[in-house]
Amino acid sequence: MPSQYFVNGKIFTGKNERDFVSAMKITDGKIEWIGPSEQADAPDPVDLQGKTVVPGFIDAHAHPRLLADIAGQAAITIPEVTNIEEAIAALKKQAEKTPDGGWIEGWGWDETKLLDGRPLNRFDLDRVSTERPVHVMRSDFHSSAVNSKALELAGIDKSTADPFGGEIQRDENGDPTGIMIENANRLIENAKPKKTEEERIEGIVRTGRRLARFGITSVAEMMGRWNDLSLFRKAEKRGFKQRLVLYLLWEEVKELGIRRLEDRDLNGRIRIGGVKLFMDGTISGKTAWMKAPYPGTEEKGMRTCTKEELLEAAEFARRNGIQLAIHAMGDRAIEEILRTFEPVKPWIDDGPSIRIEHASIMRPEFFRKMDGKKIALVPQIIFFFAEYESYRNHLDGERFSLAYPLRTMYELNGYMALSTDAPATTWAEPDKIMTSIKAAVTRKAYNGQDINRAEKISPEQAVLLFTGKAKEVCRLHETGRLLPGDEADFIVLDEDIFTTDPDRLDRVKVAATYISGEKVC
Ligand SMILES: [Zn+2]
Repeated sequence: MPSQYFVNGKIFTGKNERDFVSAMKITDGKIEWIGPSEQADAPDPVDLQGKTVVPGFIDAHAHPRLLADIAGQAAITIPEVTNIEEAIAALKKQAEKTPDGGWIEGWGWDETKLLDGRPLNRFDLDRVSTERPVHVMRSDFHSSAVNSKALELAGIDKSTADPFGGEIQRDENGDPTGIMIENANRLIENAKPKKTEEERIEGIVRTGRRLARFGITSVAEMMGRWNDLSLFRKAEKRGFKQRLVLYLLWEEVKELGIRRLEDRDLNGRIRIGGVKLFMDGTISGKTAWMKAPYPGTEEKGMRTCTKEELLEAAEFARRNGIQLAIHAMGDRAIEEILRTFEPVKPWIDDGPSIRIEHASIMRPEFFRKMDGKKIALVPQIIFFFAEYESYRNHLDGERFSLAYPLRTMYELNGYMALSTDAPATTWAEPDKIMTSIKAAVTRKAYNGQDINRAEKISPEQAVLLFTGKAKEVCRLHETGRLLPGDEADFIVLDEDIFTTDPDRLDRVKVAATYISGEKVC
């Protein structure tokens, strides 16, 4: 491949907050040289006409497989759906689109966004259909609502015991209400027919195109199934362009009895990077495990895995030279992780050994305990932005001010990445990175409310957390920066993200996305 020069740009290299150049030379999909345009002595350069270029975004925590799955489902999200009647109408429409007898599926509801002020239940969903199963995931993908037919197909009734780390919600008579919490969702998932491989591959390729439009050139799949490795690799052959790091669900690793990963599993554009488990639930669902009860209740959320389980997963990670990623939102859950791993030495040289996913409520003393432990923090400011009502209602004053302290995290902890967790929040385009950048820079929720301005970060810092710093967290050493030797993964923006009015950052568009020097959109 011949070399290609790009000149007259405002190119943010991702090395630090201040490193800009105006030209770069790309050879064989990699950055060969960067410098001032005057020194770019080339015949046919691409003139960037002063446009801003940044490294391709790395979404360090997302669910591309889930994004592919929900693409054809009913979105029960604002602004289209604001009450239960509208949710029922949207699901009836979905029923018409779903082949006879198939499951009627939706996602994205959040009781705090519904004017009725309560969750969907089986009786609402029985109004969609009594003949066909209906299953609607809540915005956090940690709970769901099903109708009576779905309960029947899953074999769930009064006498069914709650699984560990989950709850089949019941009314005063002990009958299931149709709300399935945490691990209870698996009972429903197991009752559903599986998609064909062909359908899944197509869905993934389409999702890759969608991510490219938002400037995402690398992504971590945080709910990896063992089969996903070959699935994503097949999708890669069919046009899925992103680099993808897969974090395998620990539960499945155990079930399948996987002990050793091979070199071929750990290398390539699609690779396994870690193992993932859940320490607790979510703040919006009041299942995040807290030190103190949720306001006005006795509840402190729930723990969803044991210490033995954590250590066993860590041992597997160490043996295979991969990371341990732990979902933890509540302060009690995070504290428990720090306590459990206090005596454990980091096992990875070129990045963090442990990733705390979400790290929502960070107490000041946690940072001291993390010193030298090579623990990464992977928060999602979009939760605070989109789920404002939940955070307002479920966190009291002190905890509200401790939620997603990005500036403190940035200053005190070495390893950190921002990410979207798409589609696990109640926002129609959660994977649009610019929305997260705007929220991080302004610390305003979708409705303009303050979400702790003291923890604002700069646009340069926000971009680094999606590029040069995210690469370290995901151990994507080849990308995330635009320095000689790096893969030419970059995006051209239609406005200068570094000088534009912060309140309109979410309107900055990705004009072009390049992966390994190839323009993919
Ligand atoms: Zn997630």
